[in-house]
Amino acid sequence: MTSDKGATKDLFVGIDLGGTKIVTALVSEDGRIIAEDYRQTEATRGLAGVVRRMTDAATKVMKSARVNPGQITAVGVAAPGPIHAESGVVTAPPNLPGWKDVPLRQLLQDELGLHTELENDANAAALAEHRFGAGRGTQHMIYVTASTGIGGGFIVNGELYGGATGAAGEIGHMTILPKGPYCGCGSRGCLEALASGRAIAREARERVACGVPTLIGDLAEGDLDRISAKLVAEAAAQGDVEAEEILGEAMTYLGVGMANLVNLFNPELIVIGGGLTKMGERLFNPVRRVMHRRAFHSSMQAVVIAPSQLGDDVGVLGAAVVAMVSQQ
Ligand SMILES: [Zn+2]
Repeated sequence: MTSDKGATKDLFVGIDLGGTKIVTALVSEDGRIIAEDYRQTEATRGLAGVVRRMTDAATKVMKSARVNPGQITAVGVAAPGPIHAESGVVTAPPNLPGWKDVPLRQLLQDELGLHTELENDANAAALAEHRFGAGRGTQHMIYVTASTGIGGGFIVNGELYGGATGAAGEIGHMTILPKGPYCGCGSRGCLEALASGRAIAREARERVACGVPTLIGDLAEGDLDRISAKLVAEAAAQGDVEAEEILGEAMTYLGVGMANLVNLFNPELIVIGGGLTKMGERLFNPVRRVMHRRAFHSSMQAVVIAPSQLGDDVGVLGAAVVAMVSQQ
């Protein structure tokens, strides 16, 4: 018998598969990260290698915490969309070239010999914020990630809303401008094509290429490839008018998207995470302002707009929560 309650807690392995890196963690049921591993995805070197790196990482976090596989309740994997959650298949992620209809859950389950669940990365992040972050205790919450791309997940009646095939929550691909810029999904004028980090960088590049006088070009030392959303934010922070305008337009579109979500879902909380939130009030102020102008007044009075609380851990904690949810 042991008096250490911590030793009796269920343990989970979360694997966050990204286009460039794989983050793996051993996580206790109360959301504590016990051991963590980071490694490159090296997606261009083939599927088998990626699966091996994922299983190696899972084995390593267990070993470093002196935990054997028999003590693991389940493994959760967060993968870039789109995926088919029920069958555990990654369908055609733009960030993982050459992957098409990969039965990732089965491959990992066979290799590790542990029950494994798969979820879209943004949905997994929504689950993490709901269980351990800003959304604790809420019933109706939307998680939005505003980063290189834009994604999200819906918690409805306290549970992740997956839709018919688990593909719900593609917030970045709401059409905002029917004849707007083309989007990676094949459509045009999507929120992601207007307000993501990639969209901000593209707009800045076009202006610099056209010879518009702006600090952005100076900060990039004339190299268009060095222009990123981060650099635009830096220029805006130094008072550059063009940079402020580019960000202002992007945040207006983000606010329009969020107003649509408020009218559709009447959430009590919208959590915004992702790299763009590092801009702080330069993001939140215009987004809130646009939302107040466009969404129903009563719904706006009921909703709180808050930053993510889990920061960089949201992905791997989300993967672990996918495993936890599968055991309930
Ligand atoms: Zn799109």
